[in-house]
This record gives sequence, structure tokens and C-alpha cells, in this order.
Amino acid sequence: MSKLALLGGKPVSGTNVSKTQWPPISEKTGDKLKELYLSRKWSFNSPSEQEFEKAYAKYHGAKHGIMMVNGTVTLECGLLALGVGKGDEVIIPALTWIATATAVRDVGAIPVFVDIEPTTLCMDPAKFEKAITPKTKAVIPVHLYGSMADLDKIIKIAKKHKLGVIEDCAHMQGGIWNGRGAGSWGDVGSFSFQQSKTVSAGESGICLTNDDNLADRLFRAKHIGYPNGAAQGGAKNGPPPGLRCHNYRGNAFQALILADQVKGLKKLIGTYNRSAAEIEKTVAGLKGVRVQARGRMADPQGYYCLVLIFDSAPMNDIPLSTIIAALAAEGLNCGGTYGPVYKHLLFNMGKNEYRIAGGSCPVAEGIGTLNSVCIGHPVLGNDMKTIKRICAIITKVVENHKELINYKPAEKA
Ligand SMILES: *Cc1c(COP(=O)(O)O)cnc(C)c1O
Repeated sequence: MSKLALLGGKPVSGTNVSKTQWPPISEKTGDKLKELYLSRKWSFNSPSEQEFEKAYAKYHGAKHGIMMVNGTVTLECGLLALGVGKGDEVIIPALTWIATATAVRDVGAIPVFVDIEPTTLCMDPAKFEKAITPKTKAVIPVHLYGSMADLDKIIKIAKKHKLGVIEDCAHMQGGIWNGRGAGSWGDVGSFSFQQSKTVSAGESGICLTNDDNLADRLFRAKHIGYPNGAAQGGAKNGPPPGLRCHNYRGNAFQALILADQVKGLKKLIGTYNRSAAEIEKTVAGLKGVRVQARGRMADPQGYYCLVLIFDSAPMNDIPLSTIIAALAAEGLNCGGTYGPVYKHLLFNMGKNEYRIAGGSCPVAEGIGTLNSVCIGHPVLGNDMKTIKRICAIITKVVENHKELINYKPAEKA
């Protein structure tokens, strides 16, 4: 008799615990959106946009917030603001969403991939330092999934070598490092508010900075060269020589949704941390599985997802796809991780357009790809009763994993 639901046993949960609704909605915001629509004032720099930029920067301990159309161009504008361009090298972690790399390519620079730490799955500071060459101009640490890159170590190394730092915070809305927000430690912090992110307006993003000059360059880079506050056509001076400027402006609808949503961010992050702590506690008592380590000085931490890492030997080398199927059969849907950028389906850079430091990134290619599953952040928003059920599902699959050793998925007809 099998215990696991994948092999015919009774599932822990009859209903799918990962069926959650995202993004959050409210009647009040809906009413305001209608009012905005009827006002015909739909463009950028709306009262809501200014309110949101201020609130978001303040939350994360930064002086300026510059909203843009997505979280890829925020990275690109961060690089432009720092003067990164043709022939320069920018060091990024191998495990991240491809946007971190394409933004570097899009300013004419070379992304250099370095490996990740096996615990946090974020950029390995020692490998970052080793990858620096005379051509290196900047580094983009990514706060990935449910952890934060080691900002103290990375910024110290960057300062020593006079490199710019852009934090990719697309996964780290509301995360705090050593008492101050993600995105306020580097020269620029880049956030995405794409549909799946923990603050969401469908699309859009923001850059944070504490530097007045960078704030001006960021604003001009997204607003065809005009400075903040100048009416279109009414600027006293143009952009600094060589700064490539685009139209990357967001709109008033996105800003309104974001301005309302950020009011609930602290509570949301609190719930995510409480849920993650409960799952971490359970996993600590199991053999063969662990949780992606939190950022060393992160409290509270943001979560794009909670990552479970299965150590292959204690789990008898059961394929990840089988573990995912077993968890799903018990009622918990998990996804895989991105895998190294340079192996992603959409990655199409020419051989001369990028570099892999040391020739390969074994950690990103190993546990960062083959052995990890993601529990999406909306699942962490569940009540404690549901979180305990999730703990029971993980426990059951791990403790009974030996049943899966000879499992073969049914052939598709
Ligand atoms: C989502 C994401 C981005 C890009 O944001 P978009 O708004 O989708 O352009 C950049 N970096 C990381 C790590 C992301 O997850």
C-alpha cells in the first residue's frame, strides 16, 4: 500500500492549497480608477505617481524614487545613469531572470556571469571579486526569490574597485537589510511591479537612489532628456552629453494602483515572514531538504517565493520533476527555478556579447537548477491553518520519498 497520493494514497489536502488570488484588489481603488479615467489625466507624473514615488522611497530609506514602465528599463536606466556603456563589463549572478543580463547588453556593455552561494542562491561575493577586470564598471547583485545578496560584502568590494552598484530588487519589495530597505544601499535600486511581483500594477517599475545627480540622470533617461518638474518643451537645459534618453514613462493608472497597494506592504511582508518561518521550522527537522537561506542581515525579508532545495544523495537522486508531481498530488503546486541565464530558452546573446567568469557556474547549474522548487509568494499569504497543511505535505513527501525511487511517469498518449 502506497502512502503518497501520486501512487494512489490519500492526499494531505483535497483542495489545492496553492490556489490563491494575485494581485490584491480593492473596491476603493476600483472607484478611484474610474474617477481617474473620467478625469482624462492619464499620463505620467500624476499626483498618484508623485505620492507613490515618495512613499516607496521613504519605505525603503531612499531619497528619490523615479517610476518607469517596467523593471527591465529601470536596470537599463540605472546603468545609463552610472555612465556604463560600450565595452564596459558588468558583473551579474548566473541565477536570475534574463532581464538582468539583457539590460546590460542593451547599453552596449558585456554581462559577466558569476556563480551563486549554495545557501542563499545569490551572488557569491568572493567569486564577484575574482571576476573583476580593468573593464569592470558595475555590479548588479540580485536579491533572488527568498533571500538577499550580501550587500555588506559586495558593496565593500565594489568600493575598493570603484565600481557602481545597482541592486536588482524585483523580488525584494519591502525587504529590509540591517535596518534599511533593499534598493537604498547601492547607487541605484531597481524594482519591478510586473503582474507576478509582490507589489504589482500589471507592469511598471521604479528606481531608488540617494544621490541627487543620479536622480536627475535617471529621470532624464526615462523622460526623453527632460529634467523632473519641467513642463514638456519648457526645460531650461538639456540632458548631459552622451546620456541616452528614452520614453520609459509609466502612466497614472499604474501609479494609482501602486500608491494604494504600498499602504498594505508592511502587513503583507509580515505575513510572508511568519509563514516562511513556520515552513523553515518544519523543514529544519527533515533530512534531504532545506530552505534557501535568508539574507544574512535581512529582517524582515521580502519573498518572491520560498525555495526548497533537495539534496540529491539523501533523496536518493529522485528527479525534481517526480518530487514536483508528488507535492502537487498532495495539494501543493510548486514551480522550478529559472536556471542559469546563459542556458535559458530566451537567451540569444552572441559568443562575444557575454562572459562566464571561470568558464562555468557549477552551483547555479546544479542546485540552482536541478534540485530546487519555488513556492510562490501568494501561497505564503495563506492563514496559519493552510501553512500547517503545506508543512504536512512537505513532511509526507520527504519522509516517504523512497516510494518514488522506481517511479516512472505515465507515457502521454
Ligand atoms: C521581473 C524581473 C525583472 C524585470 O522586470 P519586468 O518588470 O518584468 O521588466 C528583473 N529582474 C528580476 C530578478 C526579475 O524577477
